[in-house]
Amino acid sequence: MFQTFDTEGDRTQGKSRVAQLRAWMADNDVDGFIVPRADEHQGEYVPPCSERLKWLTGFSGSAGVAIVLADRAVIFVDGRYTLQVRDQVDLDVFTPDSLIDNPPSEWIGSNLRKGFRLAFDPWLHTVGDVKTLSDAASKAGVTLVPLDANPIDRIWADRPAPPLAPVEIHPISYAGELAKDKLARLAAAIAVEGATHTVLTDPSSIAWAFNIRGGDVPHTPLALGFAVLAAEGPHLLFMDKRKLPMVAEAYLTQLADLRAPSTLDDEIAALAKTGAKIALDPALAAERLKTLVIGNGGSVVPAADPARIPRATKNRAEIEGSRAAHRRDGAALAHLLCWLDGQKPDTLDEIAVVTRLEEARRLIGEETQMPLRDVSFSTIAGAGPNGAIMHYRVSRDTNRPLRDGELFLLDSGAQYQDGTTDVTRTVPIGRPTDEMRERYTLVLKGMIGISLLRFPAGTRGADIDAVARLALWKAGLDFAHGTGHGVGSYLAVHEGPQRIARTGTQKLLEGMMLSNEPGYYKPGGYGIRLENLVLVTPPAELPGGDIAMHGFETLTLVPFDRRMLDTGLLNREELQWLDAYHARVLAEIGPMVGGETLTWLTEATAPLPHDDKR
Ligand code: ZN
Ligand code: ZN
Repeated sequence: MFQTFDTEGDRTQGKSRVAQLRAWMADNDVDGFIVPRADEHQGEYVPPCSERLKWLTGFSGSAGVAIVLADRAVIFVDGRYTLQVRDQVDLDVFTPDSLIDNPPSEWIGSNLRKGFRLAFDPWLHTVGDVKTLSDAASKAGVTLVPLDANPIDRIWADRPAPPLAPVEIHPISYAGELAKDKLARLAAAIAVEGATHTVLTDPSSIAWAFNIRGGDVPHTPLALGFAVLAAEGPHLLFMDKRKLPMVAEAYLTQLADLRAPSTLDDEIAALAKTGAKIALDPALAAERLKTLVIGNGGSVVPAADPARIPRATKNRAEIEGSRAAHRRDGAALAHLLCWLDGQKPDTLDEIAVVTRLEEARRLIGEETQMPLRDVSFSTIAGAGPNGAIMHYRVSRDTNRPLRDGELFLLDSGAQYQDGTTDVTRTVPIGRPTDEMRERYTLVLKGMIGISLLRFPAGTRGADIDAVARLALWKAGLDFAHGTGHGVGSYLAVHEGPQRIARTGTQKLLEGMMLSNEPGYYKPGGYGIRLENLVLVTPPAELPGGDIAMHGFETLTLVPFDRRMLDTGLLNREELQWLDAYHARVLAEIGPMVGGETLTWLTEATAPLPHDDKR
């Protein structure tokens, strides 16, 4: 299985590990040390050798920071992890605090005295992070001390080696554009920014630009490394040669000069000494890179990673690949949901469903000769109150039976070579209550609202986020997460810069893929989330209209559970959308499944009863 159900984190070690760190601090004349949950690439997933926060504290969430002082230690997490952190860390050692309401920069101001020396690893903090921290520190009279080596690496006796998963070439049939053409586009973009070079620090950007994929972190096919691209002249790719099979090495040699990762500092310093103007993305690039450039006489040009927008706007091959991946994934979900419908309440648990779902994806991958490469994240399978925990991950300790009268929320995704998927459906176990059906239908109205939306060029995700909430708001309800995130093409399932959220300042451009996933959560009761992936379509004129409008094409092909619908709450346009969507699901998925699943799918997608008076 690609997913495990182990209980993560080990709180019993926190005390002695923090003691070792404090001993190092005392020996090295620093009063505190910051431990972020990050590696040099700032991705959502990090390799085991970079799980320093987890090693030190036991906390296994995907975002968090600890600050260890001589007499106390604090761990900052966001709202997703408020409960989890209390379960996972030794509360005698660590005091939890809020990453949002009282972030480290503010905490420093109110907790550290003048003259305090707070150390950090400049490889693990971005240029932007350090700016915020150092502004706060200088106001408080605190000195931030960048370290040459991370002290945790010294005291972590059995720290794993960096990953060395083999790199593979991502075929042009899925990538749709040759790497040399992409690199030429990026070189032109560097010149436009007024820079001579840029450092790609995000492995997703390197994977996209060079048309390669790897396996260095869980659930995302990334090869960790750095690239220094030149506006003119050869590009440099810093990747461990042990990761490069002969064919990959021969391929990459045609695109860039290959360098060992250990030489990155020296190469950047050498470039800076020639007066290079090096573009760094303040939100992604490590502070260490900035000090290397400036310390050696170069200049830093702050500029967004030039690969972000080209990577986010998918080309024809990537779109075709995604459509195929979603048909395959829809067939797997149809098999799973058909099977689930045939089981009696109280006979299954969350782990059984997650296991069966991965098996369904594996089988359809074999049938279609497009093997399941990984799950795109750990499946969220929340029965009853577990469904109300937005980022729930089932473990053997939390595994819950699917009980009669409860809802079951299933959010999962796959990595196939032609595309990345992410889909959520919520189904009743036994008979749902009227309240459950009402709230499900309000969530569905929000999702349909986004699906039917037409919007002019220049519209940002923030401009449309409310559309997914209107029906809920009218009923005095809401959900505490964004409506949608960007999705990669056989890359990260959470990919920027596009998003549908209050914070979504990126314009929605043709070819961007996003999730459309409103929800409703009743703490201690149940959770409802419905999620389709959508594609921003080219602008098209509407009959009688003045302005060409973008829209969304829905990629995900999985029926909505009709037992959950309160059709009286849906208007004619919404019912028509639902019928048309279901007809499309049957037409596209029907031919891929047979037997019982086809019978189930035919019933699940039949037209809904319409009340013609409406
Ligand atoms: Zn999802
Ligand atoms: Zn999602």
